[in-house]
Amino acid sequence: MSTLFLPDVIYTDGAFRRGHGLAIDDDGAVIAVGPPEQARAAASAAGAVDEVRQARRLVIPGHVSAHSHCFQVLLRGRRPEPRDFPDWVERILYPVVCELDEASLRAGALLAFSEMARAGITTVGEFHYVHNAADGLAPGGDPNRNARIVIDAARAVGLRIALLRTCYDTVKRDGQRRFSETPGACARAVVDLAAAVRDERGVSVMPAPHSLHGASAAMIEAAIGAATELDTRFHIHLAEQPGDEAFAKERYGKTPLRALESLGGLGPRTVLIHGLYLHPDERRDLAVAGGGLVVNPTTNAHLGDGTTDLADVIRAGITLGLGTDADQAPSLFDEMRAVEYASRSAGTRMGVAEGESDATGRDGARWLLDAATAGGASALALPVGRLAVGERADFTVIDLDDLSLAPVGTAWADAADAEADPELDLAGSLLHAIRPTAVREVFVDGRPIVRDGEVLGVPRGKLIEELRNAKLVR
Ligand SMILES: [Zn+2]
Repeated sequence: MSTLFLPDVIYTDGAFRRGHGLAIDDDGAVIAVGPPEQARAAASAAGAVDEVRQARRLVIPGHVSAHSHCFQVLLRGRRPEPRDFPDWVERILYPVVCELDEASLRAGALLAFSEMARAGITTVGEFHYVHNAADGLAPGGDPNRNARIVIDAARAVGLRIALLRTCYDTVKRDGQRRFSETPGACARAVVDLAAAVRDERGVSVMPAPHSLHGASAAMIEAAIGAATELDTRFHIHLAEQPGDEAFAKERYGKTPLRALESLGGLGPRTVLIHGLYLHPDERRDLAVAGGGLVVNPTTNAHLGDGTTDLADVIRAGITLGLGTDADQAPSLFDEMRAVEYASRSAGTRMGVAEGESDATGRDGARWLLDAATAGGASALALPVGRLAVGERADFTVIDLDDLSLAPVGTAWADAADAEADPELDLAGSLLHAIRPTAVREVFVDGRPIVRDGEVLGVPRGKLIEELRNAKLVR
């Protein structure tokens, strides 16, 4: 059985197109995108066709949140309001980390992932670092037991997950005992976890040396070794805050990126998280090396970290992904907006992505939409983020009549000539205006995971019950 989706509008190959069909096979792969007759022929060749007409709907690739710490959703609304990042770590983050039991970890993951799915996110890169029990030992002797809980939560919601298994060996405070392992044990655990999920649909594993301050040189080298062994990428927090440079200079005598480079960590496997304080020549070197960057502008604003120099990222030619990081209100529509708006405020100008992306042939709003989809997919080394033949059929169905898209959405649903009118810009509406109410359905591997705003795999009542059973929430 194959399926032919016929939405009014679809975003494919960098453009919004009316009257195209999306054909997928029984396994959830895209087999055609194009005029209905062509897509129908491809679907028929793959078996009996289930035809789904999606009137007044826009289909876009599912968003990829390439950086998340799902348990941090449990920090929402906690008082007292911290003064700065060290105060947040001390008085908000670590007390929660110390209290986090398995039921709380599961409930937090289900909550964060459900919120993501309802916002049109289909893939999460989960940077998971709470490996140990409160006593600092692997729970039940299994260093991947908590990772398994997080993976199972993503599968219950229906999200695709790249488990970025963190490598951490700094212990200065109590809470850090929950993250810490030796380099040898950590590299083994990463490879073991990758082997354990090899046959699981929608699950992959990558190593993630936490940061220059959370991981020693030996740990970073072990993590890069695991990435090489698994032939995948690795993720690392780098140059997030102004003080990170002084730390790197003290430990390595170099800036953060040059320190990572001296450990063999600058190449096509490299994905930097944040990178707010990279120097311009370092951005260029990252792009030339084929490395990626993931930014998390809402969390950076929440924590008072600073802003991404979006204009320079685009000029450097870096493949950018976006992340929801602390997951206080996960939505990549919000992250697209936040990175553009923060750059506007910092530079007292408008149209930052618009002004810098001419060389790519895309306007600024499309450049940011591609960052939220294909850019994140590149960071996670996954065949998603584009609706094209051979890719996985992960997509979001948007109501063109949702009031947050008016007047442009309704015009596209009504008028065949909207596609040709540059003033009726759907990308601009997605960047500046859309609210989560516009997301009607979400599909992963061609199967629905959200319908009418409800997560099918984890009904609201079940999620609330899980939250009530969690020690941290009671
Ligand atoms: Zn992070």
